[in-house]
Amino acid sequence: MIWLISVSIVLAGVCVWLFSELQRAKQHSDQRAEELRSSAKALAADAAIYKQKLNALSQSSGAGILMLDKSGTVVHANVTAERMLNAEPDGLLKRSLIQATFSAELQQFVLNMGPGPDSYDFQIGGAQGPILRASKYRFPMGVSGEPETMLVLVDVTELRRLETVRRDFVGNVSHELRTPLASIRAIAETLQDGAIADEDVAQGFLSTIVQETDRLARIAADLLILSDAESKEPEKSYFDLTELLKEVVERFKPHAAESGLSLALEAEKPLQLLASRDQVEQVVVNLVSNATKYTPSGGKVLVRAHKQDENVVLDVIDNGIGIMHEHLPRLFERFYRVDKARSRASGGTGLGLSIVKHIVESHEGEIRVASEYNRGSTFTVMLPAGTQTAQ
Ligand code: ADP
Repeated sequence: MIWLISVSIVLAGVCVWLFSELQRAKQHSDQRAEELRSSAKALAADAAIYKQKLNALSQSSGAGILMLDKSGTVVHANVTAERMLNAEPDGLLKRSLIQATFSAELQQFVLNMGPGPDSYDFQIGGAQGPILRASKYRFPMGVSGEPETMLVLVDVTELRRLETVRRDFVGNVSHELRTPLASIRAIAETLQDGAIADEDVAQGFLSTIVQETDRLARIAADLLILSDAESKEPEKSYFDLTELLKEVVERFKPHAAESGLSLALEAEKPLQLLASRDQVEQVVVNLVSNATKYTPSGGKVLVRAHKQDENVVLDVIDNGIGIMHEHLPRLFERFYRVDKARSRASGGTGLGLSIVKHIVESHEGEIRVASEYNRGSTFTVMLPAGTQTAQ
C-alpha cells in the first residue's frame, strides 16, 4: 500500500514538472512568435517605405523606367517613360512591350537571355520621331518573386544628330584637304617627269602649287577659328562697334576698288557692344568679304549699323549675284557652297558663314539672310548691346 502511495506521489510530481515545462515551452514559443510577428511587421513597413522611395526616385527620374515581368509585360512605368512613349497616365501598365513601343526588335532584345549588347536604340513614331536608347537590367528575383527586367530609356536623338554632324564634318574636312593635296602631288609628279625643263610650264605649275598651299592654309586657319568659336566662351569687353566697322571697311576699300565695287558705311556713333571684339571683327570681315566676293564689278556693298531696343543691328547689303531660295536653309552649314567652283575660284573655304553663325549664337545673338537671285543679299546680325554700369 505504502509502495502504491509512493509511486502515485512520484507520478504526480513528474506530471506537475512536465506540465510546468510545457507551460514554459509554450510561453517561450509564444514570445518567439510575437518577436517574429513584430520583426515581420517592421520588415513589411521597411519594404513599404523602400517601395515608396523607389517609386519617388523612379517618378522623378529624367530617364524613362519600365519594369517588365518575365513574359515582357509592363508592371511599372514612370511618367518619363509614359511621356517618351506618348502614353496616357498608367496607359502602359499590363501592355506587352510591342504594344507599348511598337518595336518587335526591342521585344526581341529584351527577351534575349543569351550574351549580347546591354542597350538597343529604337525610333518612336516613324522616321522623323525621337530615337530612344533602352538599357536592360535583369533581376533574377523581382518584387513578384519571379525574374523581372528593368528597361531604362534615354532620348538620344540629339546625340545621334551630333554624331552624324561630326561624321559628316570629318568626311568633309578630309575631302577638302585631299583635293588640293592631290593637285599638288599631280603637279609635282609632272614636274618630276620632265616638265621642270620647260621654264614657262614650270612657272605655271609652281604658281598653282602656291595657290593650293594657300588654300590649305586658309582651310586650316578657318578650322581653328571655328573650333575656338565652338569650344571657348567669348572673352567679352565693351567697345564701339562703329569704330570697328570703320577699320574693317577701310581695310577692304582697296580690294573693293580693284574689283570695281563701291563700299560704304552708315553707322550711328557710338554703338556700344559687350562682346569679344576679335570675334565680332571676324563676323564683319567674313560678311564683307563675301559681299565683295559675290558682287560683280559695278556693284555696291553697304555696311549699316544701328541700335534697336536692346540690340545692335548690323546689315551687310550687296546687290550682287544673290542666292536662290532653296539654298538659304543650308547656307550656314559647314562647307556648304551654292556654287562650288565660284567659291573655290574666289578663295572661299565654305566655312565663313558657319563661323559667323557660331560666333553670333555664342553671343546670344541672331543671324538672318534675305536674298534674291541676281538681285543681291542682305545678311543681318543682331547682338545684345550690353549696358555699361557706372563704376
Ligand atoms: P565661302 O568660303 O564659299 O564663301 P561661306 O560659308 O562664307 O563660304 O558662304 C557659303 C556660301 O554662301 C558661298 O559659297 C556662297 O555660295 C554663298 N554666299 C555667301 N555670301 C554670299 C553673298 N553675299 N552673295 C551671294 N552668295 C553668298
